[in-house]
Amino acid sequence: MSKSRRRSIAICYLCGVDLGKDRTKDHVPPSQFFPEAFRRTSGPQLVTLPAHRACNSEYQQDEEYVVATLAGFAANSPVGRLLWQDVRSKFSRDRGQSLLRMVASEFDKRPAGLVLPPRKIAKRFNSARIQRVMHKIARGLYFLENGALLPDSAPFVRLVLPGEDPPPEIAMILQEPERGAYPSVFAYRYKKFPAPDSLHVWAFWLWDSIACSVVSDAAQCEEAL
Ligand SMILES: [Zn+2]
Repeated sequence: MSKSRRRSIAICYLCGVDLGKDRTKDHVPPSQFFPEAFRRTSGPQLVTLPAHRACNSEYQQDEEYVVATLAGFAANSPVGRLLWQDVRSKFSRDRGQSLLRMVASEFDKRPAGLVLPPRKIAKRFNSARIQRVMHKIARGLYFLENGALLPDSAPFVRLVLPGEDPPPEIAMILQEPERGAYPSVFAYRYKKFPAPDSLHVWAFWLWDSIACSVVSDAAQCEEAL
């Protein structure tokens, strides 16, 4: 979708209601995904969609959480290291302290009494928050490509951490073209499978390190429209 078409959008891509005056620009994917140093040196043209200020802000804390909880897994790539610097400096500020404690508490040396091999630490994630943020990105990408709303639903979302094999839903769409203007930060592939499968399948790649699949039921989405 071109910039001028984006300007003429009249509805919020998150709730589907007329934008009215309470509109703001929402980044797809979240601007926090782009490390500050990357923005300074590369001057990326980030993509935005109009959304209600209230709808946008409902996701802000979840987006902060997702960056904070995933950044440590991206520290082996150059852009991931920049992101980790952002997270560390945010943690050192007042509001970041509670986020730091939450993320630190997700690391567990002996989950449920299980003894892990040396150097292995289990990490729990708040899957509901990750699901919300990843599906928001998928809905934004869908709106940008189709100019149509993708209703909120309960998608299947799976993270693929460094060293893990891509799961079947990602393998299924690897033939699709890779998209995303700044693939070292965020790249994606998408395919809609028609009936009888009736699925929207996205695969995201974050910071050259982490993949994430988002699968939603296309028939259910169409019914909700
Ligand atoms: Zn809205």
